[in-house]
Amino acid sequence: METTVRIFDDDAYKRTFRANVLACDALEKDGAEYYQVILDQTIFFPEGGGQSPDQGTIHGLQVFDVQIKEEIITHTLKAPIPVGTEVEGVLDWNHRFSNMQQHSGEHIFSGIVHAKYGYNNVGFHLSDQIVTMDFSGPLTEKQVEELELEVNQCIAANTPIQITYPSKQALDTLEYRSKIEIDGQVRIVTVPGFDVCACCGTHVKHCGEIGIFKVVNTQNYKGGIRISFLCGFRALDDYKKKQQSVVNISNSLSVRQEEVADAVGKLKNQVSILKQQLNAAKESLMIQKVSQIESSLENVCVFESELDTDVMRAAVNALTEKHTGFCAVFSGDDESGYRYIIGSKERDAREIGSLLREKFSAKGGGKPTMIQGSVCAAQEEIKGLFV
Ligand SMILES: [Zn+2]
Repeated sequence: METTVRIFDDDAYKRTFRANVLACDALEKDGAEYYQVILDQTIFFPEGGGQSPDQGTIHGLQVFDVQIKEEIITHTLKAPIPVGTEVEGVLDWNHRFSNMQQHSGEHIFSGIVHAKYGYNNVGFHLSDQIVTMDFSGPLTEKQVEELELEVNQCIAANTPIQITYPSKQALDTLEYRSKIEIDGQVRIVTVPGFDVCACCGTHVKHCGEIGIFKVVNTQNYKGGIRISFLCGFRALDDYKKKQQSVVNISNSLSVRQEEVADAVGKLKNQVSILKQQLNAAKESLMIQKVSQIESSLENVCVFESELDTDVMRAAVNALTEKHTGFCAVFSGDDESGYRYIIGSKERDAREIGSLLREKFSAKGGGKPTMIQGSVCAAQEEIKGLFV
């Protein structure tokens, strides 16, 4: 079969096209029936090089996937189209243009990183959820900030992006990224003054179309750095969501937008102090409560809805001073289960631990003087063990 004519190589802006169906084969995938359609030419960019495939319709049918193998592009549809049919294809332009914005932004950033630091871009992922690029060396927060600014200066200058197909001789002397020996014609994407790179992807014509380049996260990755970023409308969407978050936090805490981080820090401190105070109060309440239990009782078993481990331990210690048998504190409820601490001065607490495991498949363990763990059983049933 003849290789598919790639309309997007010369015209990344073509949104509709007509083509002839050369093949249509059924394909079973995840229990559903699909059809793989091959056309004589296409504007649908296939998945590859870390980039998700184009979306849209062919002959009114949704395109679920676009793949390329040996220069032949297949479009995955849900219904068959007879071979020989002339079809019209319509690209999901918003999706494609977004991919073009992200991909061109990635080239500029990678070009500057390569020129300034000599690192290579060793990974690029452009899905509908995330956009990341990996570099072979580390960058500091300040360096990333400077690079981000430079990319945006290139965007503001509306630098044109050139696509060329240099001769073999010209390529030999040309300095460009992604230089690997390939048989066919090498496609060179140039952002003058910023980047020269071999790439078969779709790009904007002028950098101004990228709109904005924004780094949203960085992480150390295999001795280098992974940078998550967004360009254009995706960056705007992200800004809108983040703006809404800041507005919500600002309203809820009654502070100015630029002060929300400090305000949340203060709030966390206050919560931590209140928690300590609450625990101290709960502890004295528990000590008082267990001191009122009849001291002639050998085994004691106390249930509370919500106690910190420290409070439970303090209560058990108070109980073992007065009662010679098993002294247990359970915290939780019948539905979600209980955490427990059981202590004893004269008995081996592990005995009651074994019983809990046997009867209710409880988890936990410890020393003869004190065990702790968790159990899912009804309060009444557990109490039965402590009579
Ligand atoms: Zn590329």
